[in-house]
Amino acid sequence: MSDQMPDIARNLADVKARIAAAAERVGRHAREVELIAVGKVQPDERVEAALLAGQRVFGENRVQEAKGKWPGFRETFDGIELHLIGPLQTNKVAEAVALFDIIQTVDRPKLAQALAKEMEKTGRRPGCLIQVNTGEEDQKAGILPADADAFIQECRAEFNLPIRGLMCIPPVDDEPSPHFALLREMARRHDLPVLSMGMSGDYELAVELGATHVRVGTAIFGARDYG
Ligand SMILES: *Cc1c(COP(=O)(O)O)cnc(C)c1O
Repeated sequence: MSDQMPDIARNLADVKARIAAAAERVGRHAREVELIAVGKVQPDERVEAALLAGQRVFGENRVQEAKGKWPGFRETFDGIELHLIGPLQTNKVAEAVALFDIIQTVDRPKLAQALAKEMEKTGRRPGCLIQVNTGEEDQKAGILPADADAFIQECRAEFNLPIRGLMCIPPVDDEPSPHFALLREMARRHDLPVLSMGMSGDYELAVELGATHVRVGTAIFGARDYG
């Protein structure tokens, strides 16, 4: 059973204070870092509590779950910005383009092509990030680092996608710093401004290493109940 409702306003304030402190440690400013609240699998009332506390930028892993949740919230709350942070199947591209403001998980030519086609058709162009599988894990989505340079160029030149930056999810058992550093260097090489990296366990480190977007779930909403 899910436990008591956490104090979400307080958790949000705490995470933001930690982001600001981390930014300050490396001479950055808190406003250079966007906090994406990851509400996947969380009860609607927790997401609503975040909205009531003023949070407007959210991440979802699954198109289906987001479809059930966000059109309703958008009727009540202005200024919501929704990021897709989970793998995207090509048969869900139309729904994703309609629903999300940013798609963080572009990771293969077939998907890039499907996105380009849908954007052409609808005129709607959500910003895109390329997910890099920095740990080269078999089970993980993302383009391999060795293929990333060519893929980034292909997405821009051939598919004309609005590529804004890069995203990664380091392997759970690895020290995340080298992964964050690799992503940052890759973004620098391609003159890409957005770096989406860092989750509940390592977002402060990610901010110190240049993250412009951190994706935080548990630290805001409490543990996810998959039961
Ligand atoms: C679930 C998820 C997060 C948030 O994870 P927490 O550890 O709960 O902060 C961040 N990014 C992605 C891609 C996720 O799937």
